[in-house]
Amino acid sequence: MKTIPEPARDIDVIHETDVLVVGSGPGGLAAALGAARAGVNVTLVERFGCFGGNITAVGVEGFAWYRHEKTVDTEGVGREFEDRARQAGAATPEPQSDSHAIDAEGFKLVADTLVEEAGIHPMLHRAFAAPVMDGNEIRGIITESKAGREAILARKVIDATGDADVAFRVGALTRKTPVEEMQAASVMFSMNGVDKRKFIEAVKADPQTYKDWESGEWSVETTGKEDTMFSPFLRKPFEQAMEAGVIPAALSTIS
Ligand SMILES: Cc1cc2nc3c(=O)[nH]c(=O)nc-3n(C[C@H](O)[C@H](O)[C@H](O)COP(=O)(O)OP(=O)(O)OC[C@H]3O[C@@H](n4cnc5c(N)ncnc54)[C@H](O)[C@@H]3O)c2cc1C
Repeated sequence: MKTIPEPARDIDVIHETDVLVVGSGPGGLAAALGAARAGVNVTLVERFGCFGGNITAVGVEGFAWYRHEKTVDTEGVGREFEDRARQAGAATPEPQSDSHAIDAEGFKLVADTLVEEAGIHPMLHRAFAAPVMDGNEIRGIITESKAGREAILARKVIDATGDADVAFRVGALTRKTPVEEMQAASVMFSMNGVDKRKFIEAVKADPQTYKDWESGEWSVETTGKEDTMFSPFLRKPFEQAMEAGVIPAALSTIS
């Protein structure tokens, strides 16, 4: 491969902290809150302009949809996210479980509040670019942003990028699942112009269960207790849309 030399340069150390968490999804937020509540200085670095990762940037709203009567709930910080979102008016009852779906936009403010309350130092719009090493130990990171390259030093660095970016750049052993074994990429979306009442009536009139997820390319294995449990699984309308040529037939993983 063709290469070019990059000139060596000094980089400003703009911040120093005890614990540096890189990435602010549910994992990074939980790590930062846990460390801050344990009494150390914590800094949270995020490449985007909001905290929350997939909750806010992607719109993964319902992450406790497995909470039903008689199921075991892990509670913890996830429950706290949900409760705080509900108190802030940023959550609505989730249709298939005993949980609340979090509003992606509203959770940006909830996450800001949680970070601020815990005394975490927020650093948005900064992408991790390279580790700062002292022998075999990571002592900080170099970030890229509109301000250019900057260094942040820390006693401990936590990789919460969701992609093991820091671990990979440090040279730690990482494994990327072969493409053919990866879960199909999925995406959340919102839709306008829907007659919600009619939609809910139609879902109720033809109730689907978790067992119905099996009827296609999804491979779902249950112990049987979910077989009759309601799940708003929308295969039929999507099949109809495919037959009518409204959506491409190749989109076989829509649910
Ligand atoms: C479409 C979709 C639907 C899903 N549905 C559900 C569901 O219903 N229930 C459920 O429990 N889970 C669901 N998930 C999975 C869930 O979202 C993830 O398991 C969870 O978000 C992982 O959390 P995380 O904190 O590890 O990573 P992420 O949420 O991915 O957060 C990583 C953060 O790190 C930041 N980051 C990445 N690289 C860098 C870098 N180089 N520098 C600085 N910051 C960086 C990112 O911007 C992001 O904010 C879904 C995921 C998707 C994509």
